[in-house]
Amino acid sequence: MDAPSEVLEQLVAMSHTLGDPAWDCAILGEGNTSARVDTETFFVKASGTQLPTIKPEEFCRVRFDGVLPLLERETATDEEIKQVLTSAVVGEAERWPSVETVMHALLLSLPDVHFVGHTHPTAVNAVMCSQGATEAISGRLFPDEIVCCGPAPVYIPWTEPGPPLARALRDSVNAYLDTYGFRPKTILMQNHGLVALGATVNEVLSITAMCVKTFRVLLGTYALGGPHFLPPAMVDRLWNRPDEAYRHRLLTGRDL
Ligand SMILES: [Zn+2]
Repeated sequence: MDAPSEVLEQLVAMSHTLGDPAWDCAILGEGNTSARVDTETFFVKASGTQLPTIKPEEFCRVRFDGVLPLLERETATDEEIKQVLTSAVVGEAERWPSVETVMHALLLSLPDVHFVGHTHPTAVNAVMCSQGATEAISGRLFPDEIVCCGPAPVYIPWTEPGPPLARALRDSVNAYLDTYGFRPKTILMQNHGLVALGATVNEVLSITAMCVKTFRVLLGTYALGGPHFLPPAMVDRLWNRPDEAYRHRLLTGRDL
């Protein structure tokens, strides 16, 4: 396990890359990122900070057991939520953790998830904010998409950010685990954006970059009759091929 300062250094670098204007994934205060420190705590972006310029001190170190109970408190008011989030911060709470802290706590509790990158990429949201979003994301388009982003995403219909979104995510991620037997790599949220789940910083970055490219390609397909999805059996085959597994390891630093 890396020391907290090393985890934080990696998280800052990942956040700067995701916030790079060339990536077109987040502007101003959009998006948030997190990293697991140990079984008890994680770092998450503080509310009101900006990914491209974020500093180490603009992350909060938060206790999992301080925020996960919010998943069960369906009637908590905004003020109560803020209070719970603030009291879960390790040490002096100089800043408030992001409103999406519960979502990050939940996702960082999944097997082999150490880094989470949530962004609002323009290309992804051009699709996720459209009438045809669910149809457009119902298949896979090319092999590198499958290697980087997995055989399928988790899809979440519009849900208000904060604990309600975290609850919807918990249910949909559990359904995905039941169906596939392994964790998802991407979560696509209607009228909202993308979440990339990684064992490493490289996994989060490769997922995000490939997802953005996929959505650009997807938008292009609608100029020529719409997407031609690979047959589901071929998606399975590409996901399980040894050479694709090798490429996955090179890209992400972990086995499938
Ligand atoms: Zn968001």
